[in-house]
Amino acid sequence: MDTYEKIIGLAKRRGFLWNSFELYGGTAGFYDYGPLGAMLKRRIEDIWRDIYVIEEGFYEIETPTIGIEPIFVASGHTRGFSDPMTVCSECDHAFRADHLIEGIVETPDALPASEIKRLIDENRIKCPNCGGVGTFGEVSSFNLMFRTAIGPGAERVGYLRPETAQGMFINFENLFRFYREKLPFGVTQIGKAYRNEISPRQGVIRLREFTQAEAEIFISPHDKTHPNFSSVADTLLRYYPASHQENDGGTIELATRDAVGQGIVAHEFLAYHLVLTHLFLVRVGVDPARLRFRQHQPDEMAHYAVDCWDAEVLTDRFGWVEIVGIADRTDYDLSAHAAHSGRDLSAILEYETPKQVERIIVTPDMSVIGPRYKEKAGKVLNALKNLTEEELNGDLINVSVDGATIAIPRDMIKYEAVTEEVRGEKVIPHVIEPSFGIDRIIYAVIEHSFAEEVVDEEPRNVLRLPAEVAPVQVAVLPLLTREELIEPAREIVRTLRRAGVFVTYDDSGTIGRRYRRNDEIGTPFSVTIDYDTLEEDTVTIRDRDSMAQIRVPIRELSERIYEMIRNSGFCDG
Ligand code: AMP
Repeated sequence: MDTYEKIIGLAKRRGFLWNSFELYGGTAGFYDYGPLGAMLKRRIEDIWRDIYVIEEGFYEIETPTIGIEPIFVASGHTRGFSDPMTVCSECDHAFRADHLIEGIVETPDALPASEIKRLIDENRIKCPNCGGVGTFGEVSSFNLMFRTAIGPGAERVGYLRPETAQGMFINFENLFRFYREKLPFGVTQIGKAYRNEISPRQGVIRLREFTQAEAEIFISPHDKTHPNFSSVADTLLRYYPASHQENDGGTIELATRDAVGQGIVAHEFLAYHLVLTHLFLVRVGVDPARLRFRQHQPDEMAHYAVDCWDAEVLTDRFGWVEIVGIADRTDYDLSAHAAHSGRDLSAILEYETPKQVERIIVTPDMSVIGPRYKEKAGKVLNALKNLTEEELNGDLINVSVDGATIAIPRDMIKYEAVTEEVRGEKVIPHVIEPSFGIDRIIYAVIEHSFAEEVVDEEPRNVLRLPAEVAPVQVAVLPLLTREELIEPAREIVRTLRRAGVFVTYDDSGTIGRRYRRNDEIGTPFSVTIDYDTLEEDTVTIRDRDSMAQIRVPIRELSERIYEMIRNSGFCDG
C-alpha cells in the first residue's frame, strides 16, 4: 500500500473524504467532504480569509457559478479552454492525449495535436484501459466547460464557471466605484469551479468540481512595487526558475529581495504574493521541505502574462503537484471585457497635483469656411480641431478630408492656446492573480501531516495538523467509564463549547485506544478527567505530537486551550 492509498483509506474510514454518488456506483472526478473533511476545509478557508480579506483588506464577493456565454467568449474560454483528447477505437475510452506521451517529451501540453498523434503512433502507446496498440484515433480538442441551458424554450447558453475569476473581472466598474476609484485594490472570491476533465484518474487531485480561492488585485501598470515589500524582503523561498528546468538545475533558496534583485521574479508585487502564498500554505500544514515555487516556461505561459509561478507540493504518488498559480495577467482580462462589452474599463491614475496642460483651440471663421467648402465644411472643421500647434503653422494649412488633402489659407482660421487642468492619466489596470485550489491543498495538508509511529510497542497513526486547522480541537475523555467522572467530564464539554471550542466526548474503550483514535484524526489536545479532578479541580491536557501532559486548573482551561490552538502546541505557564 502506498502513502496515497493509506491516506485515502484513513480519509474514507474517518469521515474526511468520500467518493460522491457511491450509492449509485459513483463517477470519477467528484468527492464529498465528510464531517471531518468539511470542518478541515472550512478552517483552511477561514485562514485564507484571515490573510487575504482581513490582513490584506481584499473584500470578498460572491457571484453566480453559472455564467452566460458572452463572458466566456470575451475571456477566451469558449475557444481556448480545452485539452487534447483521443479515443481508443477498441474500448471507446477517451484519454488526455498529452498525458499518454508524458515521459516521452518534456512538455507534452505545449505540442500541437498532430505532433501528439505522431508521437502516440511512433511510440506504439498502449491503451491504459484495454491494452490495445495502434487503436488511438485522431487527437481533437475537447472544451472543458460544462455547458447548460438557461431557461426553457429558445434557450440561452450558459456555462458552469471554470474559475471564479471572471465574476470579479466583469464587476470591475462596481468594484472600482466601491473602492472610491483608487488603485491598487483587491477582491477575493471562494467558491466552486467546474471543469469537465477528460478522464480524471488522479483521485482527489484532478476533480470535475472543485473549490477555488482567488484574489484579483488591480494595480497601476506603471508601478509594480509593493508598499509592504520590506516586510517580506528577508523571507526565504524555494524557487525553481524556468532557466533551471531545462536540464534540471534544481531549486534555489533565495531571500525575496534577491529574487527580485536578480530578475528571477519579475517584480515586487508578484514576489510579495509568492511570499504570502508560502506563509499561508505553511500555516495550514504544508511541509515547507516539500514545497517549491516553479516558474512557467515561456511556452507554457499564457501569451499575455508577464510572469507566472506555481506553488507545487511533493506528493508520494503524483510527484510535484501544482496547488496554487500566481500570475501577472497584465491588462488582458479587462481589455478583453472592455472590447466585447463596449464599456470603458479603465481607471484614472490621479496625479499628485493636477497638471496644467496647454491645448490649442481652433476658432475658424465659419462665415468664410461654410460657403467655400459647402457640404465638406463640417469635416474640414473637425480635421482642423485635431491638428497640433505645429501643423497649424505656415501660410497654408493641410487637412485630410475623405482621403483628399485640402490646403486652407491661414487667414481663414484663428487659434489660441488655453491651459486646462488634467486630473490624471487613463490606464487599464494590470491584474495580479493568486489562484488557490483548495481541494489539492487539503490533500497535501493531510499527506504532509500523516505519520505512522510506534509508541510503547504499539503502532499509532497520527495527523500532525496545525491546531488551527484540526477539525476536532479537543477530545474530552473521562479516564474511566464511571459515573463520578462522566458528569464532571460532561460539564467540561459544556464549558469548552460555550467558549467556542469544537469538542468531542469519548468514553468508550481504554484511554490508550481513545488517544489513538484522536491522534489519527489530528485532534491536537485531549483533556482527561480523573480522580484528582474531583479533589483538586484540575485536569490533564495531553499534547498529540509530544504526548506530554500538563495539569491545569479547570477555571483556566478555556483560556489555556485558546492559547494552545493559537500557538499550535503547549506553551509553558
Ligand atoms: P488554473 O486556473 O488552472 O491555474 O487553476 C488554479 C488552481 O486550481 C490550481 O493551482 C489547482 O490547485 C486548482 N485546480 C485546477 N484544476 C483542478 C482540478 N481539475 N481539480 C482540482 N483542482 C484544480
